[in-house]
Amino acid sequence: MDSKQLEDIKKNLLAEKKRMEAALGSVSAPDKGEHVPGNYEAKFPNYGDDPATELEDNSPNEVADFQNNLTVTSDLSEEVARINAALVKIDAGTYGVCEKCGKAIDPKRLKAYPAAAHCMDCSK
Ligand SMILES: [Zn+2]
Repeated sequence: MDSKQLEDIKKNLLAEKKRMEAALGSVSAPDKGEHVPGNYEAKFPNYGDDPATELEDNSPNEVADFQNNLTVTSDLSEEVARINAALVKIDAGTYGVCEKCGKAIDPKRLKAYPAAAHCMDCSK
């Protein structure tokens, strides 16, 4: 893979990362307890308290949406981690090599999925 192709992939990865982080921002907040970049905590939605009891109302909607936020947060943060790993490998000059078998990953696969860490055979 030449440096021009790598530049393009890096641009794609950075754009993708931005998109993921924007999406993460709507369902989660950075995990303040851990101070690890890329760690996110799903938001618990609050659609208002129950006026009848004046107690905080964790309504079924809030719980369902929180479950959804958890799933989306974990999917997206895994993807961000994969993108970060790919970016590190680009800078280290080891990008495009399968992490499992050490063979070059098919450029077509990398084009379709730039964050791929494994070749087609190993990801099966
Ligand atoms: Zn492989």
